[in-house]
Amino acid sequence: MSPTSVLDCIGNTPLLPVRRMVTPGMAAVYLKMEAWNPSGSLKDRIVKMILERARAEGRLKPHHIIIDASSGNTGIALGMIARVLGYRSRIFMPETKTIERRKIMQAWGTEVVLTSGADQNSHIWAAEEAARDTETYFYLNQNGDPGNWLAHYHGTGSELLAQTEGRLDCFVAGVGTGGMLMGVSRRLADAGLATRIVAVEPAEPHSRIEGLLHFDGSYTPPIWESHRVHAHVQVSDEDAFATARRMMREEGLFCGPSAGAALFAALEEARRLGGGKVVVAAACDRGERYLSTRLIEGD
Ligand code: PMP
Repeated sequence: MSPTSVLDCIGNTPLLPVRRMVTPGMAAVYLKMEAWNPSGSLKDRIVKMILERARAEGRLKPHHIIIDASSGNTGIALGMIARVLGYRSRIFMPETKTIERRKIMQAWGTEVVLTSGADQNSHIWAAEEAARDTETYFYLNQNGDPGNWLAHYHGTGSELLAQTEGRLDCFVAGVGTGGMLMGVSRRLADAGLATRIVAVEPAEPHSRIEGLLHFDGSYTPPIWESHRVHAHVQVSDEDAFATARRMMREEGLFCGPSAGAALFAALEEARRLGGGKVVVAAACDRGERYLSTRLIEGD
């Protein structure tokens, strides 16, 4: 059926094999190309799901301004989707995030409120404060709404089952809200798979790998359930950015540093697991979102 709006183009992203960066004796490695969702990241899925559920349950009213805390990708997805559905939107984002994110959100007509870069969670506190006014605002609440992980359960997770024909030994993704890892891990477990689930986090507390949470104990997203994850791997900014550059030059794929971080960790898993196994890494957003950083030139 032909799509009736851009919302119908969300999800069903390709699973692409990594060709040159995998050497004989390693497990096969694939990338789930979430960057190729219409607004450029995995977050199209969750914004669509959370808003659809809220509309169906009557929680989202026509006069509401939709707000959330975002490192940028959810804000961009909300900008697009709010336009299609006819809502105003406002995003709280740390001032340290790339200028591209700000400009893309502003292009959609989303109001951007910048919060302090000194605290990695400042945007969350600001959004929660505003969300108390429930008459004016609808709080998307990606960190706490079950629609986040449900989008990855029914979407990303089900797609991976079909795309790998149920042969998936290890799934590696960065953690922001944890929605992707929670949804995918639940879906694979419900299908009876014993897939190893690997969470990637930045090694540095003030990392330039945007969208990922450095687990310093100051905040745990309410949807996060640590028992679903088998390993936490820390990746340095340098390895994440260098791997994103290699993805571009060796695989022809232009993605952001969180994809680089996930692939870096996935390649290590693939070396350890060895031939005959299947590893999938999440490529969560597009490289164009980082043109103002050292992503392309390197340090
Ligand atoms: N990569 C990027 C670039 C992101 O923006 C995010 C989400 N902030 C993630 C990975 C992690 O996704 P999740 O929120 O589902 O853990």
